[in-house]
Amino acid sequence: MNWRQSARCRGTDPELFFPIGSSTSFATLVQSDEAKAVCGGCPVSRQCLEWALDRPVEGVWGGTTETERRAMRRRRA
Ligand code: SF4
Repeated sequence: MNWRQSARCRGTDPELFFPIGSSTSFATLVQSDEAKAVCGGCPVSRQCLEWALDRPVEGVWGGTTETERRAMRRRRA
């Protein structure tokens, strides 16, 4: 995973990317949007997303939430 060396989230609080609570709660949605904003300018977001799509990881990866990745996996299947 050497793409992580170029990750924009390096140096940011990792907890931002792992909201706690219901995925539909307002606080979780706001936190997810803040994490996605970091991902939005990340030069390795595509690699990060592909990595996360291959694993059942929680949190925001590649600008997507776990729920969004689950839907992407279903569409790919
Ligand atoms: S896409 Fe987001 S979570 Fe993935 S490396 Fe970049 S900033 Fe970090």
